[in-house]
Amino acid sequence: MSLAQGRQYLAIPGPSVVPDRVLQAMHRAAPNIYGGPLYDLTYSLIPDLKTIARTEGNVAIYIGNGHAAWEASLANVLSRGDKVLVLATGLFGLGWAEVARGLKADVEVIDYGVQADVSADRLDAALRADTGGRIKAVMVCHVDTSAGVRNDIPAIRKAMDAAGHGALLMVDCIASLACDRFEMDAWGADVTVAASQKGLMTPPGLGFVWFNEKAAKVQETADCATGYWNWKPRAHPQGYWQLFGGTAPTHHLYGLRAALDMIMEEGLENVWARHGKLARALWAAVEAWGQGGPMAFNIKDPAKRSHAVSAFGLGAGNSDKLRGWCEEKAGLTLGIGLGREPADAFFRVGHMGHVNAQMILAAIATIDAGLKATGIPHGAGAVEAATTLIAAEA
Ligand SMILES: *Cc1c(COP(=O)(O)O)cnc(C)c1O
Repeated sequence: MSLAQGRQYLAIPGPSVVPDRVLQAMHRAAPNIYGGPLYDLTYSLIPDLKTIARTEGNVAIYIGNGHAAWEASLANVLSRGDKVLVLATGLFGLGWAEVARGLKADVEVIDYGVQADVSADRLDAALRADTGGRIKAVMVCHVDTSAGVRNDIPAIRKAMDAAGHGALLMVDCIASLACDRFEMDAWGADVTVAASQKGLMTPPGLGFVWFNEKAAKVQETADCATGYWNWKPRAHPQGYWQLFGGTAPTHHLYGLRAALDMIMEEGLENVWARHGKLARALWAAVEAWGQGGPMAFNIKDPAKRSHAVSAFGLGAGNSDKLRGWCEEKAGLTLGIGLGREPADAFFRVGHMGHVNAQMILAAIATIDAGLKATGIPHGAGAVEAATTLIAAEA
């Protein structure tokens, strides 16, 4: 018997749930790319993308996923042999480092492991050791999606300023944008990277790089800046085609317009607050389950957890059982353990983008049923804890 027929909840940390409004906006005949409404629509995206990253700087739109945006950001600021410092707090930080290596950068990684955020002391030591000022950029994930950890970007900026280091601060906000509070200008990020398929609720296929004047200056002498990745024509187009270096991602643009409208209508502060409350409801449930079984937070300190994605330990062999039950029996797809060994001892929940209280409460109740059905030991009272929190905070 399966009770999975009905609308599923894809609770993986990207791609996230695509709203009907976004799907409907994309459901149309191919538009003319040499004039007409698509031009105005595309130009209308720019100010809203800046608002969402909280910057007065520039934004370049690319056809590509997060990996493309990673490479785009680095290609614009690096020359072959330049040194970069990567602050890794999980698989995605290490992945971005790999892209820098591919561009022949000299990559130094400070690996904080998969259960901790960046601490300023090791960063401070690395910056002070760089007496020749060789480090061109400090790269960090705001949220590392494999660990569910959220890094303190202002603290990293403060450490860089305190060390008197002039490197660019480059931040991967692919998981966090429009989920966890992020303030590019106020927090002193020079380059920000994101993609369409997480908090921006649009199918995978668009990547974004925001950059300030300091980064724009570095770009002028960067010899990795090849024609296609060059952000300058995309940010200051002389003609529409320059925005994309070729054919526009037509339908994605309509979808993104609808998604940005939804964020603007709700208000960015409210979007962030909603993600915080829904994340805390899930954590309240996990707290209860953990009292009587192997479920445990990957990141112990709630202040260091992302509001977009959470990672949990569940004991070897248990994750496949629970995820399989939830998907096959109830239509809830949970995220796999990523970057951990054995992967089957971990699972993740994506609670990013188009997610509301009834979806999170249903996911919690479904996991509760899944734990019972699969015989994984767990504490009682998880649903009660989550509903109590939602009742108080909604
Ligand atoms: C999803 C994600 C990526 C990779 O994005 P893709 O679109 O899969 O290439 C990179 N960094 C972070 C933090 C992510 O969450």
